[in-house]
Amino acid sequence: MPLSCPMTDEAAAYLLKNLRPAEHERFRRHLRVCIACRRETDELGPVVDLLRGLRPDRPEHRPAD
Ligand SMILES: [Zn+2]
Repeated sequence: MPLSCPMTDEAAAYLLKNLRPAEHERFRRHLRVCIACRRETDELGPVVDLLRGLRPDRPEHRPAD
């Protein structure tokens, strides 16, 4: 069972939806069979959520009072 995978590099882009549709789909399918990439997305998920919240181009973003 592989514990590392060259496609883990794409995990962040996948979570940020920065991949092209075909690549996104390919990675999504790859996740089903690759434990290394699943672990990577599990670990990056919360970080990506945080980054999304910090993105300045979000219209609903409000400065803290
Ligand atoms: Zn993988």
